[in-house]
Amino acid sequence: MLKRLLHVVAQYLKTKYGRRFRTRKELERWQEQKVEKHVTWVLAHSPFYQEWLKDYSIKDWRQFPIINKQIMMDQFLQFNTVGVTKEEAFSLAFQSEETRDFSGKTQGISVGLSSGTSGNRGLFLVRDEESWQWVGAMLAKVLPNSIFGKCRIALFLRANNNLYTSLTSNRIHFQFFDLLTPLKEHVSKIQEYQPTILVAPPSVLRMLAKMQMEQKVNLHLQKVISVAEVLDPLDEQLISKGFGQIVHQIYQCTEGFLATTCSHGTLHLNEDLVVIQKKYLDRQKRKFSPIITDFCRTSQPIIRYGLDDILTERAEPCPCGSVYTAIEQIEGRCDDLFYFPHRTEQQNVTIYPDFIRRAVISADSRIEEYRVLQLADDELVIQLKVSDSNKLEVQQLIEESMKALCDQLECILPKIRWSEYEWQTGAKKLRRVERMYG
Ligand SMILES: [Zn+2]
Repeated sequence: MLKRLLHVVAQYLKTKYGRRFRTRKELERWQEQKVEKHVTWVLAHSPFYQEWLKDYSIKDWRQFPIINKQIMMDQFLQFNTVGVTKEEAFSLAFQSEETRDFSGKTQGISVGLSSGTSGNRGLFLVRDEESWQWVGAMLAKVLPNSIFGKCRIALFLRANNNLYTSLTSNRIHFQFFDLLTPLKEHVSKIQEYQPTILVAPPSVLRMLAKMQMEQKVNLHLQKVISVAEVLDPLDEQLISKGFGQIVHQIYQCTEGFLATTCSHGTLHLNEDLVVIQKKYLDRQKRKFSPIITDFCRTSQPIIRYGLDDILTERAEPCPCGSVYTAIEQIEGRCDDLFYFPHRTEQQNVTIYPDFIRRAVISADSRIEEYRVLQLADDELVIQLKVSDSNKLEVQQLIEESMKALCDQLECILPKIRWSEYEWQTGAKKLRRVERMYG
């Protein structure tokens, strides 16, 4: 326990007070040294990287070939530096999911399973020290006060992370709420717990915010943090109104702790923990997918790992003055790009999830909830819940707004089918804009 705390506190102090970069240049120089040192270590310990990078000099790490989940999974044993086989890791991960007990380890290593379609799930390995460092960094970036002050943190997650709950002390208290349990069963528990910090996917935050407005719960929160799902502007507004404060965000995945919001509510990349290079999808629109190099992680080294998320860079710097790249929004995954037929040319036009979102939300203020699903190049389904009985009128306004978007992008609006809004919290993440075909 003491060792654990030391790791957490050391990383906390380092992250919170240890690194002050006055300029972007200074940050980049520091990253350069960190990565070069890290790659040298990795080359001595990971057979996969030895082979993969044999034609490269360490200095050229910014140009190393990009790896992805597939490559990592295919060569799992050679890739990791702790000698865990894929079979061992999968068996432990599945067992944890089934029993809802996530404290198991193999050879002292914790295993995480990333979301994805069934054939495409990633396995992640973490040594204890790495986990504690992760927690320390997280607390440094997220806690509104010092680690030495008191706080009660409610975590609504799909899987309990023992990392946090085992850290509970008389100052910091964590309570896990399982998303697989219906929310109404948590209501009295959360009311009694009275968290000061609420961490949950936006779909859950919005339900709690509504309950707060309807006085079904009465929470006194210091900070509200959205995780695990894309924060849709429609939800952000409601959550912010319900709790009377800014909605903060944590952008993390099994591959790394990638971004957090500053006091202004702007997302900044955690460039003191990872290097994030940009693979531009559309430079003019400032949209890119991140390529991550984590210079702290050793058991499963992440060097130039391509994620298929879509991020939009902020056009203006954040008023907080941070040297870390400011992000306007995280839009979702590349899988959720829509493709509409071009008006005159034999090709499809790429539509960013954000365009769809804005077209829908801006159409009318009576929209309470929506989902837009693309089923085929020429077919959309829009699920809709509105606040009054005049649904047809709202549908018409959305259709007009979508048409205007298509005019702008010179594409043909697919046929829209309307249906009732249906979505339940549980194992599945809420994706308001989702492409349903390959
Ligand atoms: Zn900022």
